[in-house]
Amino acid sequence: MTPSLLSDLRAALESKRAELRGPKREDIEITKWADPIDQSQADQLREQADGEANRVDGHLKAINEALARMKAGEYGICEECGEEIPEKRLRAVPWARRCVACQEEMEKR
Ligand SMILES: [Zn+2]
Repeated sequence: MTPSLLSDLRAALESKRAELRGPKREDIEITKWADPIDQSQADQLREQADGEANRVDGHLKAINEALARMKAGEYGICEECGEEIPEKRLRAVPWARRCVACQEEMEKR
C-alpha cells in the first residue's frame, strides 16, 4: 500500500468518525425524549433510537479498530487469509477487515 493511499484512507476514516460522533447523536437524544404521543409510539421511538445508537457504536468501533491497525502497520490485510485487501474495497469500505471473498464466506456461515 502506498503512503498516499494510506493517508487518503486515514482521512476517510477520520471524517467518517467525526460524522458519526457529530450532531446526529444529539438528534437521537432529542427523539428519545420527545413528547410521547402515546406509550407504544414512545416505545417505538426509543427502540429506533437505541437501534441507531447501537449501529453507530458498532461503526465507530470498526473505524477505531481500523485506525489502530494503521498505527500498528497491520492495516489493509485480510484477517482471514492474510492477503492485501484491494484498494477498491478499502476506498469503498475503509474499515473493512476482510477481503470480499472472506467476507462473503463469513456471511454464508
Ligand atoms: Zn481474505
